[in-house]
Amino acid sequence: MAYSHSNNKVGNLSERALERIEGLALLPTPENYELWFVYFSGADPELVKILDAAVKERDGELVDEVCYEIFQETLGGLREEKRVMQAGDQIQQTIHDVNSIVTSTKRNVHEYNETLERANLGLREEKSKEEISELLADMMDDTRSMIKLNSDLEGTLEESSRVIEDMRHDLEIARKEAMTDPLTGLANRKAFDNEVYRLITLANENADYSFSVILMDIDFFKNFNDTFGHQVGDQVLKLVSRTLKQGVKGRDTTVRYGGEEFAVLLPGTNIVGGTKVAEILRQEVEKKEVINRSTGRKIAKITLSAGVTEYRKGETVESLIERTDKALYSAKNKGRNRVISARTLA
Ligand code: GH3
Ligand code: MG
Ligand code: MG
Repeated sequence: MAYSHSNNKVGNLSERALERIEGLALLPTPENYELWFVYFSGADPELVKILDAAVKERDGELVDEVCYEIFQETLGGLREEKRVMQAGDQIQQTIHDVNSIVTSTKRNVHEYNETLERANLGLREEKSKEEISELLADMMDDTRSMIKLNSDLEGTLEESSRVIEDMRHDLEIARKEAMTDPLTGLANRKAFDNEVYRLITLANENADYSFSVILMDIDFFKNFNDTFGHQVGDQVLKLVSRTLKQGVKGRDTTVRYGGEEFAVLLPGTNIVGGTKVAEILRQEVEKKEVINRSTGRKIAKITLSAGVTEYRKGETVESLIERTDKALYSAKNKGRNRVISARTLA
């Protein structure tokens, strides 16, 4: 982002950013600094809106994880886009380089062929010893330069394939980052949207294919935050995330769906299987103990409520989520810490 500020103004923004970081007891990380610098500059009204809302929601408190999330959502994303664009430019340049060397090699091979053809014709005719040795000398020269060209081409192609491999690696990292929730390391909403789209397509194209969705929400989480603070709240979110991840198969996608809401996508699983998985996850979470790091004392148990649905062929993603949400809502209404299958509601 470009700032058209004078030195004085930039210094002032910098001071205000650092003051705010200190005031909120945040770590002076480059991300926090950039976030608050841009905030005070007013250059990104969307970022100002998001930060103001986050501070308001948390009664004037903010934790590093939340700031980092906001950074990723706003400025981090721009950086990623830039990285992808740069990689795109680099790929084009590499293709151009390879293309031109291949074209010039083709031309040289063609010329070399002509030399050989000439030599062939020349040798068929009656020639003096001198003429033959001149012809051979020419051929040797051309062959030598052909060998040199080939080895240059090999070098360039090797270099290009290295560059392409590096870029592929960079893009893979950027792609993973874009699909991951930074606090918990689970898949994020974007990843959920992609996977659910893939599963809906599969289900609509294959008569006997089915999948299920679990939506989960931590019970009375607000109390946790209010009693023990957001840092402990975040610790709980991480613990629940780990427990969910460990409780499902590798092919399943565990998602941080929202603040303290989670989702699991279960490919090839019907409502009976989905409900069983949800019940196991509910029990596993219930077994965990949260220890308050500063006092060493146990904190009240964490429980969660869950709604489960199996995809109905032809329905939209909105309808699927709405039905799952209804089941979750019903689990909350019936007293929380339970799993409700959408099948029992219809
Ligand atoms: P219920 O059993 O009805 O779900 O009660 P609840 O208190 O969990 O529900 P509610 O939706 O009222 O509150 C959710 C709270 O979760 C609000 C917010 O304080 C907290 N929260 C949301 N995202 C985060 C986060 O990233 N970190 C922390 N620490 N708290 C969060
Ligand atoms: Mg909630
Ligand atoms: Mg909740």
